[in-house]
Amino acid sequence: MTNVPLPPAPGTAEHLSLALANSIVTLPGGLRVDELNSPENATAWLIAQNLAPEGTGLLAYCQLQLAGLREQLREVLRSHTEGTAPDPAALAGLNQALTAVPSAAPLHYSPEEGLTRGRTHPLSRIVAHAMAQIAEDAATLLTGPDAARIAICAAVPCDRFMLRTHARRQWCSERCGARQRASRSYARKLDKTPAP
Ligand SMILES: [Zn+2]
Repeated sequence: MTNVPLPPAPGTAEHLSLALANSIVTLPGGLRVDELNSPENATAWLIAQNLAPEGTGLLAYCQLQLAGLREQLREVLRSHTEGTAPDPAALAGLNQALTAVPSAAPLHYSPEEGLTRGRTHPLSRIVAHAMAQIAEDAATLLTGPDAARIAICAAVPCDRFMLRTHARRQWCSERCGARQRASRSYARKLDKTPAP
């Protein structure tokens, strides 16, 4: 197994919801790699997504909230790709994140600058605001023109979500495509081998 990280799945760079959903991935052999597996790593992830300012330090409680939203999001995305009804609890969790904080930029006053509008949030609200933005992206994506392009990688055990770049795309990456083709041709070979 290689330690080179998979390139981002198509759509991940444009959609915070896919970025969060794919922050945990199952590698061949079954190893789960979780980018949110500690408060420090969850903080680094938020900063990398531009959802928290440099120097933010998350608490374990915030990390668990973010990881919880990810599970709910993955459930809603999965049911969408399968054409089934989402788990009501997962949908409710997504909606909770969507509506937990006001989305408008508040007014600030200082004697030097007067009234300004800005998105500076107290530390305790950074995660809530980040989760609201992720949930907003999910809601927009799942009901928008690209909703039909949401897919889950077909190369088991990879379970990353992506936006199909063309109708027949089945894999999140070249590496997954190559792995799947190899296992298919191996299966075909087995098929052709006469039974002893
Ligand atoms: Zn994949």
